[in-house]
Amino acid sequence: MHDVLPEQIPSWRRLESVCRRVLDAYGYREIRLPVLEHAELFERSIGDTSDIVTKEMYTFADRNDERLTLRPEGTAGCVRAVLEHGLLNEGAQRLWYLGPMFRYEKPQKGRFRQFHQIGAEAFGFPGPDVDAELILMSARLWRELGLGGLSLEINNLGQAEARQRYRAVLLEYFSGHLDQLDADSRERQQKNPLRILDSKNPDLQSLILGAPTLDQFLDADSARDFARLREILDANSLEYRVNPRLVRGLDYYNGTVFEWLTDRLGAQSAVCAGGRYDELIAASGGRPAPAVGFAMGLERLIELAGQSTPRPEPDSPHAYLIAVAPEAQTRIMQVAEQLRDRVPGLRLVLNCGGGSFKSQFKKADRSGAAFALVLGETELQNGTVGFKPLRTAGEQQNLPLDQAAAELARHVEL
Ligand code: ATP
Ligand code: MG
Repeated sequence: MHDVLPEQIPSWRRLESVCRRVLDAYGYREIRLPVLEHAELFERSIGDTSDIVTKEMYTFADRNDERLTLRPEGTAGCVRAVLEHGLLNEGAQRLWYLGPMFRYEKPQKGRFRQFHQIGAEAFGFPGPDVDAELILMSARLWRELGLGGLSLEINNLGQAEARQRYRAVLLEYFSGHLDQLDADSRERQQKNPLRILDSKNPDLQSLILGAPTLDQFLDADSARDFARLREILDANSLEYRVNPRLVRGLDYYNGTVFEWLTDRLGAQSAVCAGGRYDELIAASGGRPAPAVGFAMGLERLIELAGQSTPRPEPDSPHAYLIAVAPEAQTRIMQVAEQLRDRVPGLRLVLNCGGGSFKSQFKKADRSGAAFALVLGETELQNGTVGFKPLRTAGEQQNLPLDQAAAELARHVEL
């Protein structure tokens, strides 16, 4: 679990603000959800053969012996909130959320125990139009963030009966190669052989590549939806690869699934993943409603952004207030507040803790401020302030407070 230090904050803010703008622009509304939920919520909705539920959840008993889990993902809580507040009674919903997620994983580059996701979910739309919308929206995000080198993989998992038929065929295939399976996969083999396709174990990859694919078993409706989705992506010149082995890590997916991948982050190649989960709302006790969504990993996107665009600079202060009359501290702080009142948006850093004129000037320079403001006894008596540009040539002038405020306001506007 990582601290995000001040020097990294500009990258985070930029990512978050671009995402907010794009999500808003597509009509998705933000929802804020708790970080803790009942453990059963995840066990029920994510599925008991998933990596998350079998080995990645932080679950503990609270003082009342309730089993709680630090959320490992956002969809389950989002569905819970939508049902709890009857949001679907008001019609279909487009929602998004941002926040920390927790998974007990082996920490490595791009894989952490606390990480952040932005997720978008659309409830009540049968698709495939909204599936395409989510994919096009994510593509726009990459463009606006200036991210290159991302590729899109899509697949369709079909409806339950299609997956049932496919499951039988897969079961038979893997049964014939039991000796090649690892312990995890052998366990999944009986419960949900589809999950084996999602294994990251390099030793299993050739076996997985040889497995029969789902497309031959796809039901007619899903095949039609899949063709429509591709048609919309094609019409928008969005490149993709159909990956018939893309199944996604969670058990609740059906129909459209997709993943954005990069080859620039080593083994952790997925930056955004999503798909349709039409059964989850009914399974969670709601009136049946279709659902689709995606989640993206912010740490991986930030790492990627750092490779293609220079790290954004923090906003330096407009002015640094040098206080050379410590006995007049009260007055000085009044002046600082007056300047803040008069100049909306002013970033003014006050020299706290005293120090010689020289050392304060050094701090002013190091702060990156555009101007140093000097307040000594004389200035306080005359209602003026010493005004010195730090980034351009220019002598220190003594300006009435009003005029200094006007100068600063002009600078803030720029
Ligand atoms: P992976 O295959 O990398 O384990 P996943 O299938 O478990 O990913 P999802 O549950 O679909 O991931 O989450 C969506 C996105 O969240 C991922 O594509 C990734 O960018 C990010 N993500 C998932 N787990 C982590 C983690 N432990 N640390 C950092 N980012 C993560
Ligand atoms: Mg994972």
